[in-house]
Amino acid sequence: MPYFIVNEKCNGCLACVQNCPADALSSEDTADKRTLLHNMTRCARCGTCWRVCPQEAIEFQHLLDNKWDEVVALNLVRCKVCGEALFTVNFGETLTGKLDQQPDSLCPRHREALSLLTRAHFFPGPGTQKEGKK
Ligand code: SF4
Ligand code: SF4
Repeated sequence: MPYFIVNEKCNGCLACVQNCPADALSSEDTADKRTLLHNMTRCARCGTCWRVCPQEAIEFQHLLDNKWDEVVALNLVRCKVCGEALFTVNFGETLTGKLDQQPDSLCPRHREALSLLTRAHFFPGPGTQKEGKK
């Protein structure tokens, strides 16, 4: 998404390019076109371009937007008992590829509970032995 935005009043005078202290602005001329270029990684958001522009063409407020841009949205795998978010489907696929097994969709609490139940099932305590067994 471009942050340096000019409106229809820009006439290509290049005052902004010549006065940018950070070399964040540049221009390219082809046979019939002048293109204004801006590099956000260099831009110091100092506002000089906006101040020197004789046309009031620079929409500087976009450079000051303090917004979070969504980068990516991935599907989540949740604990099948309580619904706690565990990892993304993509991360699960990565693990499956590396470990050659599907990761558990249980949160630590419910994995522990399952393992206690499993232990109790296979190794019952002395008082819980079935009749007839010694
Ligand atoms: S805000 Fe400052 S650093 Fe950024 S393009 Fe304008 S003059 Fe250059
Ligand atoms: S100073 Fe203003 S009018 Fe001149 S090129 Fe830059 S944005 Fe366009």
